[in-house]
Amino acid sequence: MSRKVTDKAVDARPARHSRIIIVGSGFSGLGLAIRLSQQGRQDYLVLERGNDVGGTWRDNTYPGAACDVPSQLYSYSFALNPDWSRSFSKQPEIQRYIQSVAAEYDVRDKHIFDCDMTGAQWNGETARWEIQTSQGEFTADILVSAVGALCEPNLPDIKGINNFRGEIFHSARWNHDSDLTGKRVAVIGTGASAIQIVPSIAKQVAHLDVYQRTAPWLLPRADRPYLLPEKLAFKHIPGLQALSRAAIYAARETQVVGLAKFPPAMKLLETVARAKLRIEVKDPELRAKVTPNFRIGCKRMLISNEYYPALGRDNVDLVTEGIQEIRGNSVVTKDGVEREVDAIIVATGFHVTDSPAYDTISGRDGRTLSEVFDAIGQQGYKGSAINNYPNMFFMLGPNVGLGHTSMVYMIESQINYIADAVATIDLLRLRTIEVRKDVQDEYNVELQQKLTGAVWNTGGCASWYLDKHGNNTTLWPDFTFRFRSLLEKFDVSAYETSTSARSAA
Ligand code: NAP
Repeated sequence: MSRKVTDKAVDARPARHSRIIIVGSGFSGLGLAIRLSQQGRQDYLVLERGNDVGGTWRDNTYPGAACDVPSQLYSYSFALNPDWSRSFSKQPEIQRYIQSVAAEYDVRDKHIFDCDMTGAQWNGETARWEIQTSQGEFTADILVSAVGALCEPNLPDIKGINNFRGEIFHSARWNHDSDLTGKRVAVIGTGASAIQIVPSIAKQVAHLDVYQRTAPWLLPRADRPYLLPEKLAFKHIPGLQALSRAAIYAARETQVVGLAKFPPAMKLLETVARAKLRIEVKDPELRAKVTPNFRIGCKRMLISNEYYPALGRDNVDLVTEGIQEIRGNSVVTKDGVEREVDAIIVATGFHVTDSPAYDTISGRDGRTLSEVFDAIGQQGYKGSAINNYPNMFFMLGPNVGLGHTSMVYMIESQINYIADAVATIDLLRLRTIEVRKDVQDEYNVELQQKLTGAVWNTGGCASWYLDKHGNNTTLWPDFTFRFRSLLEKFDVSAYETSTSARSAA
């Protein structure tokens, strides 16, 4: 059962204290909560701004939303699901899975839902985080940010966008009250979200204009429903599901060679993608428009069997001219053409390296994360700690992202690290820990060196993987098992620590 703390009496309290506060309950925050509970801890709370667990899988309910990573791998290793209905799960099934895990591991009662963190400041005197939320004040000895990288919609700065009089919404804030049937619709963007939305609504709408700034690379989607005997086998043959998962993991990991180590190897995948283009896009004009002009892998590789056929429909136009402005009921491109529309779907991604969440967290010297990142770019240590932010851990922090395999694998690596850190803090009776600046700097120099030759940096594209300093501060540049072993144990020697009479007493 979930417990909503909406009681005014709670708001009236000066501050509610918890040893550990986790902010966010997507795959990462929820997974950490479960681990802490498994360790027998009750001294934590999860503050979640939404009304349910699930994070990005709760928020992204657009038509066609589905995962690009096979179901067997896209789940917690401690909660395998033999009941996946297909090889690539759709959003509702993933959200049900996350909800069921929260219920099974009995951690919902540790959540405070509808609780939006609006600020967090480190207080060096009390050695506590002071946290402001929509449900009052909290304090914590240890703060964990698990807000995710893909949570703040990026709304394009297009002239006149606020004057549009029809329906307009972001892909991650789908308006289910809006009926697009028979309407003239524009989709802005051709990223992972858009290529799922376009084929899902193309048949239903009267006309669809797809505004493409950069043509993405597409690969086949090997999706199919699982047969009953397969599901029974997963359920009843010990080790079979783990074996299937390991095989998928290993196959996906081979992509790291081309992505991070030797980009020319990506030509193999490019050949597959070009063949797909030839087969699925017969019209030479359309084919020229959707042929990417950068090396495959530089931007996220997309998988779909339905996107190109949808673009070929009579009621769908791919517009490659840049958008000049949006008027009351139309979109005008730079060539002066005005296209009337009733609804606009903004599928323009998220604030990743410039998340507004960074404005709300102030560290030891009072600077916000935004200020620190603005000066030096997103830099952290093992994606899990940042100098100047004592007693704070980050899930999916700098350089933890992936394009080729399951983020849940990275998340579980971080869960190991943070859970071990908390245990170490208790064992050594530490009052504060803060990652050393020299250690963090050395770590980042090494990361950036590894990234120099990676396809994301050399493939000839602009992407949100790179920050405004031109550094790739989002992606992990190596095999993911290396990340796992790097985070296996908490390395207290990388941190400045202090003990106190209070904790040592
Ligand atoms: P995205 O990949 O960042 O794509 C945004 C799209 O909007 C791009 O085509 C971009 O063009 C375009 N765009 C951005 N600003 C624009 C502007 N001002 N004017 C015109 N076009 C503009 O965002 P997303 O599709 O929401 O996906 C974000 C991430 O979420 C993905 O990379 C992936 O990690 C995750 N995701 C995964 C799945 C899945 O597993 N199936 C599904 C959805 C999302 P440019 O390319 O030129 O920048």
